[in-house]
Amino acid sequence: MNDLSPGLRARVLLQKHGFQAAHALGQNFLMDESLLSHLIDLSGVTMEDGVLEIGPGPGVMTYLLSRRAHSVTAVEVDKRLEPVLSGLLEGCENTRVVFADALKADLSALAAPGARVVANLPYYITADVISRLLLRGPGFASIAVMVQKEAAERISSLPGQKQWCHLAAVVRYFGEPHILEEIPPEAFEPSPHVTSTFLRIDMYEERPVRPRDEALFLRVLAAAFAMRRKTLANNLRAAFSLDADAAREVLLRAGLPAQVRGEAVPLEGLARLSDALGEMPFS
Ligand code: SAM
Repeated sequence: MNDLSPGLRARVLLQKHGFQAAHALGQNFLMDESLLSHLIDLSGVTMEDGVLEIGPGPGVMTYLLSRRAHSVTAVEVDKRLEPVLSGLLEGCENTRVVFADALKADLSALAAPGARVVANLPYYITADVISRLLLRGPGFASIAVMVQKEAAERISSLPGQKQWCHLAAVVRYFGEPHILEEIPPEAFEPSPHVTSTFLRIDMYEERPVRPRDEALFLRVLAAAFAMRRKTLANNLRAAFSLDADAAREVLLRAGLPAQVRGEAVPLEGLARLSDALGEMPFS
């Protein structure tokens, strides 16, 4: 079977092991090698890179990555794929598959600082996975992910735009998102009901803002978007147990209007707010 292409070998292995894709795990697979090679080109992965792949599925992307990266760790939650992955990846000495839930696994134990992430994610865990990669990872160089088109637009939105949200703010704090290519439903097996977009987030060498206390800044970011109908002052009161006077005072010290909404404040303002909060006796 080794003279067959990896895509065909994956099909044979899936059939041999009677594998049925699970809708609940977002199992819409990409089997076309030329598309997958193109996605690897877009991901920026080179022979020097360690790669963390999330959700390898039957492993066609994993196989191609093993040929184009220094090393690959693939994290797959579905143990039923074990015989398929071990068959397809036989002889790929630089590649290991870990069966674990990427939302629970210790990412720093799976990848070294500077590694690149490549993933065709189940769409219902997109936001959780991206946040986790940014906040709990070892410090990735880039994160290239297939997401639903609307999610890509949200993630790459800017302050002041309608889609600007907590995830977009967290992404912009760590890196710059690039929308790379739209992928039609027919590229996947089985086809999903939505259009997909391949997106890459390149981490900054230097962050655009430098709050004095990063953990506090990240709490302020979360608070700013917690309840969109409320003012930033009210969201701060709820998140940091402040009284009305203290919330007004901290906004004043940060140079922000008393009635402003969190989503209207750019990262610079939220960093000033976090610094002002850090100086208050109650924080
Ligand atoms: N990368 C493969 C491809 O492109 O053909 C598979 C992509 S499929 C959209 C998503 C994969 O993620 C599935 O194999 C699924 O079992 C796996 N998965 C789902 N939830 C996961 C989780 N929490 N942690 C790790 N893998 C997960």
